[in-house]
Amino acid sequence: MADRLMPAAFFGHGNPMNALDRNRYTEAWQAFGAGIPRPRAILVISAHWYTNATAVTAMVRPRTIHDFYGFPEDLFAVEYPAPGAPDVAAEVAEVVKPTGVGLDHDSWGIDHGTWSVLVHAFPAADIPVVQLSINALKPFEYHVDLGAKLAPLRERGVLVAGSGNVVHNLRRIDWSQPESGFDWARRFDEAAREAMTSAPERIEGLQDHHAFGQAVPTPDHFIPLLYLAGLASAATRSAEVLVDGYAMGSLSMTSYTLDADCDVRLVETDGSPELPRLPADEINV
Ligand code: ZN
Repeated sequence: MADRLMPAAFFGHGNPMNALDRNRYTEAWQAFGAGIPRPRAILVISAHWYTNATAVTAMVRPRTIHDFYGFPEDLFAVEYPAPGAPDVAAEVAEVVKPTGVGLDHDSWGIDHGTWSVLVHAFPAADIPVVQLSINALKPFEYHVDLGAKLAPLRERGVLVAGSGNVVHNLRRIDWSQPESGFDWARRFDEAAREAMTSAPERIEGLQDHHAFGQAVPTPDHFIPLLYLAGLASAATRSAEVLVDGYAMGSLSMTSYTLDADCDVRLVETDGSPELPRLPADEINV
């Protein structure tokens, strides 16, 4: 059990192929994992468990979920055999009361929003992992508040991490610019950065940003950021940028940390991996 407050994070996971690649994003995730105290467990709020209920995985042996298609076989072969943590799942349900959280014993597991990052951050896969679903029926305020309610877990050695992308518009992907962002994407990402690094309690105000509709056409990848904003607000702290960048015009890769004193200053990029060139509506990164 950790004596000190466990850091928290938001990872911009981007392309699932990052699981197999090594680039400055994956280097940053690795540096984060190597630089913080060993967590007792990892609680991930992944964009890819976006459902109509608030639930936490409570199985002893969560399966690795390959929730995408059209990618190389090597990616389907990735396993992240971390154990589950039914005790931590029960603690999650307890600390957020009166908000109700269901215990999921058999439907979910560890999805690629989680494992594509954790294979780099915690490659040994020996730290228990639980996931908290994103309740799609709830407004942003609910998610910020739920993030804040998770704060006591940080005192118990649990790493709480969101995994999504601040800017995530698959229909606007531009293959010709693998490592840059459209102006609207940059403006929105910069506004999010301003909030996260100076006044995370203002994160909900981003809904009024002129580029919100383009940057967040669906809320699934943005909401995980709200959990870190809630944790930061609860701690009356602001977040720090771990790594930033853009991919294919309409994705931002910015990641944030909270109370991580590790040295995670980064190497230069050697590029992002290629995505299979599927029609935009068939990509589900
Ligand atoms: Zn994703």
